[in-house]
Amino acid sequence: MPAPCHRTPSIKMVRGDITEQSVDAIVNAANSSLLGGGGVDGAIHRKGGSAVLAECRALRAAHYGRGLPTGQAVATTAGRLPARWVIHTVGPVHSRTEDRSTLLAACHTNSLRVADSLGAATVAFPAISTGIFHWPITDAAPIAIAAVLDTPTSVQEVRFVLFDDAAYEVFTQTWREWKQ
Ligand code: ADP
Repeated sequence: MPAPCHRTPSIKMVRGDITEQSVDAIVNAANSSLLGGGGVDGAIHRKGGSAVLAECRALRAAHYGRGLPTGQAVATTAGRLPARWVIHTVGPVHSRTEDRSTLLAACHTNSLRVADSLGAATVAFPAISTGIFHWPITDAAPIAIAAVLDTPTSVQEVRFVLFDDAAYEVFTQTWREWKQ
């Protein structure tokens, strides 16, 4: 078997709704129950439909009865979404003092590992933990970008899909400064 080709993926910042992205895999900022929740999780389950929830339930029954641990990632079908797969990962809440940056980075690293195992070439991430989990976007953006750049992966394109202008501005500015 040929060795996997690991290069740094191209990074794009997109202002928009992750449920509308035509990529191989979208990442869900899931809650640990895997049964859906608010924010981006709710939007993904609403648009993806019952097939996403059915696979989440099966994963929960087989492996995650106590919940998907923070920082880990698992994949399901994307159901009716334009993507092929949803990669569910659980971000850390900002009030957690211990290991929170490591865990936020792990969400990105482990999601890319799952993407590699699926053969996904294009992956879209939301701004994990910056909604209900209360991370200031200015703290989360450099951790998310660094984690993607530091992860050996065969993914060719990573899109950060930012839902509002403020998040888009911060991610775009952080990435601009990084490249200088
Ligand atoms: P968390 O619990 O990880 O904080 P949230 O879903 O509350 O997850 O928020 C994560 C980020 O996703 C927030 O910046 C929020 O504005 C954003 N978001 C919410 N809905 C969407 C969507 N449809 N597409 C992309 N991003 C979204």
